Amino acid sequence: MITLGVETTAHTFGVGIIKDKKILANVKDTYTTETGGIIPVQAAEHHKRVAEDILKRALDKASISMGDVDLIAYSRGPGLGPCLRAGSRFAAGLSFKNRIPLIGVNHCIAHLEIGSMISDVKDPVLMYVSGANTQVIAYESGKYRIFGETLDMGLGNFLDSFARYLGIGFPGGPKVAKLAEKGKQFVKLPYVVKGMDISLSGILTNLKQKVEKIKSGKVDYTINDLCYSVQEDVFSMVLEVTERAVFHCNKKEVLIGGGVGCNKRLQEMSRKMCEEDNLKLYVPENNLLSDNGVMIAWLGYKKFKALREDEKQELTVKSKEDVMNVEVRPYERTDMVKVYWR
Ligand code: AMP
Ligand code: MG
Repeated sequence: MITLGVETTAHTFGVGIIKDKKILANVKDTYTTETGGIIPVQAAEHHKRVAEDILKRALDKASISMGDVDLIAYSRGPGLGPCLRAGSRFAAGLSFKNRIPLIGVNHCIAHLEIGSMISDVKDPVLMYVSGANTQVIAYESGKYRIFGETLDMGLGNFLDSFARYLGIGFPGGPKVAKLAEKGKQFVKLPYVVKGMDISLSGILTNLKQKVEKIKSGKVDYTINDLCYSVQEDVFSMVLEVTERAVFHCNKKEVLIGGGVGCNKRLQEMSRKMCEEDNLKLYVPENNLLSDNGVMIAWLGYKKFKALREDEKQELTVKSKEDVMNVEVRPYERTDMVKVYWR
């Protein structure tokens, strides 16, 4: 069975194609800005502009045509409204034109479920660290529950904001990581874990103050030292919550998800924690950590397989009007979704 997944919750337009568990294509194009963050309407325009080309490249890569596709999946939320609508309508249009069933999936859960496509992971705690989202998630009683999360910004957006303040460009996470390698001393920063949640905005303010002190020559630490320290600080915060969730839920596995998961230092710290706690760690490759169409296709496939035949028949989009009105859920939280496919 061939499934095509469309991802458009934020900056990335991605198309993934899988044949059962096998990846046939994973093609994406990401909206970027010279300065400042994402402007949702502009990101949506980007997605509409690149959609046909990315689809064609994905089909070529997979050596198939639309006629070979058995199911189309799209991310219905959470995410930026205009971006979600651009992607969902594109996917619904394909469903209508080619008479292929269409299924919407939750983006955060897709980051989690991808683990079961690429490995033998059974029942992990997901440390989901992306641009907009930072959540520690695990399955309990029929749902993926959020055991801890950021109270303000996502870890990726936090690193991007810091990098923007330093004037080193976007996306900032990898740039901060590069400078961190040259850091020589640890500079104490606020460490903000409240119960099972973390908060990052105060740390950002503190970092900005420290940058100004460096500029005025009042301190002996450097920008590189700050980059090193911020990674140690905030990664420890997320790992502390993850570790507590693991023991609270009595799980044996940790899975990393989201673009910040590409960070080598975070992976190293996670590995160390898992060794000490006797847990198994799963780290997907970079292309599957950051936003991608493959994880959307995989969750769509899992959901579809769990449906009855008559439910499957209902899924194909039947009119142009239905294409425009295809459902998106910009605010759908992970724990609002009933997990019927496990
Ligand atoms: P996502 O929203 O999951 O696609 O992830 C995007 C976020 O991941 C951006 O905020 C990036 O700055 C961040 N990111 C990507 N690579 C790295 C890295 N090596 N270290 C830290 N953050 C990263
Ligand atoms: Mg994501």
